This record gives sequence, structure tokens and C-alpha cells, in this order.
Amino acid sequence: MKDFQEEILTFEYRTDSLTGRNTTVIKGMINYISKFLVSDEKLLSTLAEKTRTNCPFCPERVKEKTAMFPPDFLKEGRIFVDGATVIPNLLGHAERSILVVLSKEHYLKLNDFMPKLIFDGFRGGSAYIKRLSKIEPEICFPTFVFNYLPPAGSSVFHPHMQVLARDRPFYLAKLLLEKSKAYFENNKSSYWSDLISEERKGTRYLFGNNGVEWLVPFAPLRGLNEVQAVVEGKSNLLELNEKHWLGLAEGLSKILQFYYGEGYSTFNAILVSGPLNEHLDYFDVNLKVISRPGIQPLGFTDAWALPYLLWDGEAIEEPEILVEKIRKFTLSTTLS
Ligand SMILES: [Zn+2]
Repeated sequence: MKDFQEEILTFEYRTDSLTGRNTTVIKGMINYISKFLVSDEKLLSTLAEKTRTNCPFCPERVKEKTAMFPPDFLKEGRIFVDGATVIPNLLGHAERSILVVLSKEHYLKLNDFMPKLIFDGFRGGSAYIKRLSKIEPEICFPTFVFNYLPPAGSSVFHPHMQVLARDRPFYLAKLLLEKSKAYFENNKSSYWSDLISEERKGTRYLFGNNGVEWLVPFAPLRGLNEVQAVVEGKSNLLELNEKHWLGLAEGLSKILQFYYGEGYSTFNAILVSGPLNEHLDYFDVNLKVISRPGIQPLGFTDAWALPYLLWDGEAIEEPEILVEKIRKFTLSTTLS
């Protein structure tokens, strides 16, 4: 492409300071891959229209076509919180697996994920785990999960969130809990508060609001516009009050607005909790969000052999460059 001139590529090996997981930062890779990250707008709107026809989550069908909780769990059958509807998952991914339908609209662009929409969803999910913790206290490890659009693993177009709850943590939650405990024993301080105070002085800190701190991780797990949030001093989701849920919703909305500005239309996010039945001084509730590839006829996926089978992390641009881009975006939106 450059008349056979030699070009130098750099590979920077980074390690996550808590888990020891490695990530390779490949400078400039984002420029090569960016054409797969945007969507074919025509295809996207055709699919949105097509999937609307029989969508069980659209308002005219949600009460007829979705499952209800058994009466001994919840006599009303479903939980409604303003714009959000909480229902059981027909084919769950954990012994307690529910869905939170987030909007009346069948399809949303990422800039339509307003704080109120995400906040209502979080309040719906939180109402469910409060109920669950009273009725089945042994199912004490909940995780909130967002998969938006098929490239992010969702089989249903309509914006929704999942809450997966088990009697044992998912692998990442278990790893974070174990490593956080070991860090606390070795350092006599919490990894999460050390991370926040360190990053506040450093280059990867974004913003804090309503008790939630936002940053770009030094060694991202997946590296596609990965952003992390920490709810300081709160080790499980039952400890969060409305202010924290709002802080999470506002921050996540802001990041999704940024993704939209970069041309993206899909994302994944997880909200990881410690056990509901005890407070842990060494662990904080934390969130991760990444963008995923766009909707295109080719069906490109970033879930290829390296991350999936070789278990390596790869960042397609330097986290320090991503943080600058997000800062510039949030500054311009705050001023406008
Ligand atoms: Zn729908």
C-alpha cells in the first residue's frame, strides 16, 4: 500500500494489575478494523423493521407474549418501573434469569439510550434482586448484562437487559473476588479504592458522578472502546441506592452517546456484584462496557480465535488515546 516501503508496527504487552490477565496493545489497529465497526444503515433499518413484526417485547404484545413470574414469587406476575418491564427469561442462562425490556421503541440508536431509560431498567432489575434475596437468599450472585443487537450476541432486537443470578459467581466475578481479597490481605487496602485514587492522578480517569467513578482500564479485557466504572465502597447490588443507580445510568448513557458519535450501533456491558448476603471491604461493584462490530452483510465478528480460544486480550488502540477521545466528547456535550 505504500510502494513496498517498510513499516514498523509496535506491540505493547500490558498486564491487568489485579488479575494478571494480559492484553496486547496494537497501535493503529483501529484504523484497519474501523470499517467493520460501523453498520450498513440500510441493512440495519431493514432488519429493525422486519424483526418488529413479531417482536414479543413491543408494547402491543409484551403482556400476551412474555412469561410471568409464578404467583408465589410475585403475585402481579411482572414488575413495571416507568418505562421498564421485568419478566422471566424463557430459556435462561442461570437458574434465575430475567429480562428487563428497556423501551417502548423496538429499535434505538445508541444516542437514544437516555439516562432515564437505563435508570428505569436498573431500578427494575434492582426490584427483582430485592425480591429474590428475600425469597431465595441462597441465590446471591447477580450480574446485570446488556447485549445490544445481534453482533453483541442478542437474538432479539428490542432493547433489553438481562439479570443472571446464581448460587455461585460467574468465572470473572469469582476471579475478581479472589484477587481483590488477596490484594486486601497483602496491601491492607482495597484494590478498588487504590485504583480510583491512582487513576484520579493519572491519565485514564474520566469522570465521577453520584458515587460512581468512570475510567478507561490500563489493560482492557477486550479492548474495543472498553470503559470501566466502580461504585466506591459498595460491594453488592443491594447496597446501591437510587443515587448510585442514577450515576451508573448517566455514565453508561454518556459512553453510549460517545459510541454513537464514533459511528457504532452495538455494545455489551456487565455489572458485577459481590454476594448479596454480606458486605465485603475488599470488593466494589463494577461495570464494563465495550462496543461491538456493526451490522453488515458480511457478518464480521470480533469474537475470533485469539480472544475466544487463546484467551488473550487485545486492544486495537492505546487506552490513553481512547480516554482523550471520550474526554473531548464529554467536554463538548457538557458545553453545548
Ligand atoms: Zn420490539
